[in-house]
Amino acid sequence: MSRERGAEVGATAQWSDAASGGPGRGDVDDRPREECGVVGLFNVADAAQLTYRGLFALQHRGQESAGRAYVAASGRDILVDKGMGLVSEVLTEPGPPDARLAIGHVRYSTTGTSSLDNAQPLLMRSRFGPMALAHNGNLTNHAGLRRTLEARGAIFQTSSDSEVLAHLVAHGVAQRWLTALEGGAHQLVGGFAYVVLTPTSLVALRDPHGIRPLVVGTRGGGVVVASETAGLDAMGADYLRDVDPGEMLVVGEQGLSTRRPWGPLPAGPTPCAFELVYFSRPDSRSHGQSVHRTRRALGRQLWEEQPADADVVVGVPDSSLPAAMGYAEAAGLPLDFGLVKNRYVGRTFIVPNQNGRTDSVALKLSAVEDVVAGRRVVLVDDSLVRGTTAARLVQLLRQAGAQAVHMRIASPPYTHPCHYGIDTSRSRELAAASLSRPELLKRIGADSLGYLSQAGLQAALPGQGEWCLACFGAGYPVPIPPEEELAPVEGGLP
Ligand code: SF4
Repeated sequence: MSRERGAEVGATAQWSDAASGGPGRGDVDDRPREECGVVGLFNVADAAQLTYRGLFALQHRGQESAGRAYVAASGRDILVDKGMGLVSEVLTEPGPPDARLAIGHVRYSTTGTSSLDNAQPLLMRSRFGPMALAHNGNLTNHAGLRRTLEARGAIFQTSSDSEVLAHLVAHGVAQRWLTALEGGAHQLVGGFAYVVLTPTSLVALRDPHGIRPLVVGTRGGGVVVASETAGLDAMGADYLRDVDPGEMLVVGEQGLSTRRPWGPLPAGPTPCAFELVYFSRPDSRSHGQSVHRTRRALGRQLWEEQPADADVVVGVPDSSLPAAMGYAEAAGLPLDFGLVKNRYVGRTFIVPNQNGRTDSVALKLSAVEDVVAGRRVVLVDDSLVRGTTAARLVQLLRQAGAQAVHMRIASPPYTHPCHYGIDTSRSRELAAASLSRPELLKRIGADSLGYLSQAGLQAALPGQGEWCLACFGAGYPVPIPPEEELAPVEGGLP
């Protein structure tokens, strides 16, 4: 049987700041929101409780809903706990100590509404038996797939794109479950990572371009997967490797095996650069180094390209602090905490109107007069998406007596919406797409504004490979659907 405790949890949940110590979800108000985070465990003692720990570490990737699915003591069925709210609010029970297989999910909706129906994991029953799945990312072809499946009689339980894979499995012609899953995966297009649970197996699946992250580790002889290495760390697992782009990693009683639903890949991977700019936790590792180290490199590169005549460097807490550190190092300027964050203010992206949103910045961040008064300040932020927060921060620094404020952004202008699982699906939301540079400078009220270049971003990112830089105007690595195929983004910003 399936247990869905969400209705009661959702009725009492209070929205509050993510408690994970992640890179600052909710520090500012107009950043893109991460799509989701996933974990999976196979043959690991106390898997249900460890799922809680893994999700807690990934809380920054989604704060609307949380859930886990685990294999019951009978070994024949899957139980689900999920609800609206933070991990600590939803998963209030430790879970059965004898569960050894589990998956988990935290969600911020990018397609589908923010409701309990769409909370994950999703539990499906088909001729193959029970199957639970959890998904991070976005399927760019989900609207067409859904129409086709509905024409074949599929009845969708959610408005989320995640469910498409379950119906592709159920409606596939294959006689074996794994073959059906592989055939279903083959039809998916976009940026995505899935974890899939059956009573006897765990599958981890990553899109052929490797846009969304997924890593695999081991604990006590079992297998653990997570969206970020920080999730593995929290579950006491040792990192083994990334799940390869286009890989379907199958973990079962026979051990580990790999399938390639998309066959040999025609192009190299293009992982999401914005994961390293902003989304991922600074203590996660990517391409052999910590995200923190990468962000410092971005800050150093930013100084090379966009120096400023200033007395002190101030970073926007928390996610921009490593870039500010790198900028200060390269510039030979002091780094100081000219902005402090009130960690006890509730999340601001549910504030319903622009006035409320702007005011919430002042509630959440304040300037330290001792640090900035009478000084020329370089204000370093990791990204500038909608621009409203930047304007308010510049105003706060000026009110605290800053003589000049030079805004420096440790990524290129964010000019294009993301269609691979981030909540910026409309160009008109993006300040750099709708305003000229002088107009943008006027909007934020700084003395100067400088961005990192695309080439500078690529130079500072680790590894030799390519990256998805589509939101920075470098072209979409996966074709995006025509406008009419795009589902409205729920939970995004006005
Ligand atoms: S478009 Fe931007 S946010 Fe979206 S996957 Fe590519 S780099 Fe990441």
